[in-house]
Amino acid sequence: MAQVNDINQGLFDRARTVIPGGVNSPVRAFGSVGGTPRFLVEARGATVVDAEGREYVDLVASWGPAILGHAHPQVVAAVQEAAARGLSFGASTPTETELVEEIVGRLRNAGPSPLEKVRLVSTGTEATMTAIRLARGATGRDLLVKFAGHYHGHSDSLLAAAGSGLATLALPGSAGVPEAVARQTLVVPYNDEAALEAVFAEHGDRIAAVITEAAPANMGVVQPKPGFNAFIVDVAHRHGALVIIDEVLTGFRVGPAGYWGISRVDAVDYQPDIFTFGKVVGGGMPLAALGGRADIMDLLAPLGPVYQAGTLSGNPVAVAAGLATLRLATADVYSRLDAVAATVSTAASQALTDAGVAHVVQRAGNLFSFVFSAEPARDYAAVQAQEAWRYPAFFHSMLDHGVSLPPSVFEAWFVTAAHDDAAVERILEALPHAARAAAG
Ligand code: PLP
Repeated sequence: MAQVNDINQGLFDRARTVIPGGVNSPVRAFGSVGGTPRFLVEARGATVVDAEGREYVDLVASWGPAILGHAHPQVVAAVQEAAARGLSFGASTPTETELVEEIVGRLRNAGPSPLEKVRLVSTGTEATMTAIRLARGATGRDLLVKFAGHYHGHSDSLLAAAGSGLATLALPGSAGVPEAVARQTLVVPYNDEAALEAVFAEHGDRIAAVITEAAPANMGVVQPKPGFNAFIVDVAHRHGALVIIDEVLTGFRVGPAGYWGISRVDAVDYQPDIFTFGKVVGGGMPLAALGGRADIMDLLAPLGPVYQAGTLSGNPVAVAAGLATLRLATADVYSRLDAVAATVSTAASQALTDAGVAHVVQRAGNLFSFVFSAEPARDYAAVQAQEAWRYPAFFHSMLDHGVSLPPSVFEAWFVTAAHDDAAVERILEALPHAARAAAG
């Protein structure tokens, strides 16, 4: 267990008196790994710095956005320039169209793309919540299908059997969600064609949409079986339902056109109806998006009857960060992300093998995590059955050796293009100690 750090502990105690649990998002509280959360004061490149002045090589990357590394000078300059011209207008700007053109163009470059129009919002939760409303408005149906262990943000309909913080806290759902709302969400085991067919056989004419993470990364990483996303689209379309591919986490991180861009090459092409994006698309600022075919997107107000709005939607400072990040995310950046992910995951696996710890590396593009079990995990039940008790010791050993991992076994590890050889070396040096700690 990490040494108690007086300054961080003092800040945590103070925060807890005025902020529930001392945090503004549950997993930050270190609940499942124990110990004192580090209060961060600075982040630059591959490094974060806590209130004690201690530096850590970061494998959280703000839960995904920081693909270029933290505080990339050109992104910061774009933000400063935008901020100097005004923080928020509540009116249309030229740059929001540029950002949407960049997003649409990236998918179009990957192949025939169903992404024709995009609406900007402020969080991934808003994007998925609006996507569901849009699907319901488009189909005139109420039911929603989601997969166990997938996380799509914290709106009422999407908290059933969700990953991320709910997996970390072992919560089946959330208090405060009316039963009538919960009943509108049907939860199906992931990677299970027969279960999906069965739910459509029973409720097909009432299902508005299936929502799926493009590749789940909120129960740790679980790769879709080859062709599984295409299978979802096929079944849903046969029954007149839409498919929402949630790329809030994978979008523009695992490749220039997200997981859709890489998976349609590996497997069968598929044309979902609605995409959601977040994280990278805002370059570390609060910005997210949903998009799809023009006939569906034009159902949104002001053209159509499905209402959606936002005081800060398309905020010019956030748009500047997103646009600068996407423009800087060239092929070289994706090569570096892939290379760092391969080096770190291989070294971690070797260290665990050397320490005699049964594990499997779970990958989807440059996203990866580990399950402490002998077999790969293909669904939420398998992820939950692992020896999760090994992770806190692993996590704290890494932290003690100056590497910050996600404080939950149910999260992906995030690399950045700023992880240079020195940063990678620090991670590699820490891993054997952590693996021995996980051996127990
Ligand atoms: N969808 C996915 C796949 C996510 O990973 C997340 C957040 O981690 C969300 C939606 C919600 O995004 P936000 O936290 O910005 O509301």
